[in-house]
Amino acid sequence: MMSHSVVSVRVPAKLNLDLSVGPVRPDGFHELATVYQALSLFDELEVSERGDGRGLRLSVGGRETAGVPTGPDNLAWRAAELAAEAYGRVPDLSITIDKGIPVAGGMAGGSADAAGVLRACAQLWDPSGEAEPELGDLAARLGSDVPFALLGGTAVGSGRGETVTSAMGSGKFHWVLALSEGQLSTPAVYRKLDEIRGSGATPRPAVRPEVLLAVRSGDAHALGRALRNDLQPAACSLMPVLEMLLALGPEHGALGALVSGSGPTCAFLVADQDSALELAVALSASGLCRAVRRAVGPVPGASVVD
Ligand code: ATP
Repeated sequence: MMSHSVVSVRVPAKLNLDLSVGPVRPDGFHELATVYQALSLFDELEVSERGDGRGLRLSVGGRETAGVPTGPDNLAWRAAELAAEAYGRVPDLSITIDKGIPVAGGMAGGSADAAGVLRACAQLWDPSGEAEPELGDLAARLGSDVPFALLGGTAVGSGRGETVTSAMGSGKFHWVLALSEGQLSTPAVYRKLDEIRGSGATPRPAVRPEVLLAVRSGDAHALGRALRNDLQPAACSLMPVLEMLLALGPEHGALGALVSGSGPTCAFLVADQDSALELAVALSASGLCRAVRRAVGPVPGASVVD
């Protein structure tokens, strides 16, 4: 295969259909058991070799750019440096990110971009896939949600979320996402959860079999009943409007609703496209969120676009 000097990649947002948070580990991370699903809300990246030896250059555009760094603090930048090291290259790259994934919304947009850069670098520097670097290992070094952003689909995550195994599934699920005004910092939400839980012993995390069964059979009603997020009480306590937003779901035909990851995006599962549209209108009219998006899942992970 010919090597490319410009690669376009598309990466999905993630939703946790189940997020079970266990005890804090000695390294400070919480032990998790989760079921991820990749949704059709995408960031698009273009990665090209500069060839002028002037190093990395990153620019960010699109509909969701607030607070996204364009330097070494961007996870995509760190991914490029890590990939260059692993492939024995100089990170002489230009990276353009078109963001469609809400920022700091609990949908792992930063992780998606990191996964996108890894996929793009592999395509640029190792198109036949013969070289050593295991992208999943690089991904895990960059962050808990990065390996899933590479994998996509529906998957079970353990450890701090970075160990992922694809789950069997059938059919497509229809989602409505309510993007909240404001952002929630993931560490702050975990701290709040610890505070709510107090000093009692926390059981080991475990995913609910009902979630996996519903995904496997493509049963949206069963999945709606099984959705769960241990971080939800903490996110709602930091942002009480989320409680009101979630309550709109059942009133307008949603089969289930939950806070996405550490929030503040709220995700509503609906039966079909018509129900999605109806709920989207109601959520927009409520004035409780800044924007509404419709999406389906599962979709593939970080993929090269022709
Ligand atoms: P987390 O991955 O911590 O759960 P999240 O999914 O809620 O976070 P992200 O969109 O990944 O949210 O952004 C969290 C923060 O990370 C942003 O506020 C921003 O400062 C920083 N950040 C770094 N790189 C990126 C990126 N490529 N896209 C968006 N945010 C980024």
